[in-house]
Amino acid sequence: MKLIDTHCHIDLYRDYQALIHECEEQRVVTVAVTNTPSVFPRLQSLLSGKRFLRPAIGLHPELAHTRQSELSLMKELLSETRFVGEIGLDYVTSDSQVRDIQKRVFQTILTECDRAGNKILTVHSRRAAQEVIDMIGQGFNGKVILHWYSGNTKAATLALKYGFYFSANTSMISSDAGRRLLSAIPPDRLLTESDGPFVALDHRPARPHDVERVISELGSIWKMDTSEAADIISENFKALLTTHYNAGQNIT
Ligand code: MN
Repeated sequence: MKLIDTHCHIDLYRDYQALIHECEEQRVVTVAVTNTPSVFPRLQSLLSGKRFLRPAIGLHPELAHTRQSELSLMKELLSETRFVGEIGLDYVTSDSQVRDIQKRVFQTILTECDRAGNKILTVHSRRAAQEVIDMIGQGFNGKVILHWYSGNTKAATLALKYGFYFSANTSMISSDAGRRLLSAIPPDRLLTESDGPFVALDHRPARPHDVERVISELGSIWKMDTSEAADIISENFKALLTTHYNAGQNIT
């Protein structure tokens, strides 16, 4: 069964070397996100030559106000990879200055990605779903995955209209709200993620192969075998990797 993890913080595991080996052995295609551009070069060299791991460059919204000086490094390194994340907005803070910095950082990254084209974004939107979706907008020149989406249905409907994908994790399948959301999203827009080590599972950090549990739950929502559900997710990831130019955005 093909497993895909579109959002894992490989560099934040204590046993990251073992985890990298595990992904290769178990053939779990894993997008290794980063929270600051300065850690990207080391991750990139750790993953060089690996068949199943892809490094992503990011600047996490919760670090935007302390690491905004790394935006120039982000621009410099952007051409090194197609994958961008973790980026986005996090409105758990009510500090308007901090929110403004987050918006400026996120907008700068979006503009750079739009200009570069063909990027695949994994985006955080806690308590800021509508803002995030509005900022990316309709004609974005790349692919967007809303990671661990927890916004309302109205905003999700708009995101679907804009062609965005959603990545589901084990935490989402264990809540009623999460399962409700996942049943409302068309199967061809869903992907899977671990969001490890932040998501805990069986009293340990989730690992990429744990997406199998998400697939099994999606299978039960879709009333099909786990292997059929896995094929759908794998096809979705293939579609995500397929290059579309601006005009392609209107096909869906
Ligand atoms: Mn994350």
